Amino acid sequence: MNNKKVLLVEDESSLRQLMKTYFLKEGAEVIEAGDGRAALNKFEENNIDLVILDIMLPEYDGWSVCKRIREKSDIPILMLTARSEENDKLFGFELGADDYMTKPFSLKELIARSKVLIKRSRKEMDLKDILILENIKIDRLSHKVFINNIEVEFSPKEYDLLNYFVTNKNQALSREMILNGVWGYDYYGDLRTVDTHIKRLRQKLEDEGDKITTVRGFGYRFEVTE
Ligand code: CA
Repeated sequence: MNNKKVLLVEDESSLRQLMKTYFLKEGAEVIEAGDGRAALNKFEENNIDLVILDIMLPEYDGWSVCKRIREKSDIPILMLTARSEENDKLFGFELGADDYMTKPFSLKELIARSKVLIKRSRKEMDLKDILILENIKIDRLSHKVFINNIEVEFSPKEYDLLNYFVTNKNQALSREMILNGVWGYDYYGDLRTVDTHIKRLRQKLEDEGDKITTVRGFGYRFEVTE
């Protein structure tokens, strides 16, 4: 886990310190948060590779933190809980958590699972450097977009918006989710900003523009056949 940034979100400082010791031994860089609000701030400020997320937390709970991270990122999230109800687990996976551990847990196992999650996400990212969706090709290394094999200029926001759609393809996305995912939580713009940009994105996508469909009364969906 050399130089991987792990965000440890746990309000019990003794457990947090213990986990920190284990992650540091593995060569990871550890960033700590003791409540949900701090977790979201630290997540924004750092280029995190893995989140270890307790559920019962002051400020925002782990569910809210997980949900908000998932609106903008697909980095691995491993959730921790003191309770063992199966419902918690299902709810966590529904919100997009990748793995789940019930307290008390073995720290060795936590490390092992963390390594798997990091490796898996790296692999996925590597495969996705060049993304082809029918007639749209996105080169995520150079940030170039090709429509029917012809390069089309995208503004940084249009590029981010396209990437957000591609990452969350075939899902109904509310305007608020899109605004948060592309512009960030601290952006106080009008939701119409989203509509304006989507209109432009549709034009740039030319024939492929109809992949962005309107979900009435909700938002948009980027539709591709898989
Ligand atoms: Ca707790």
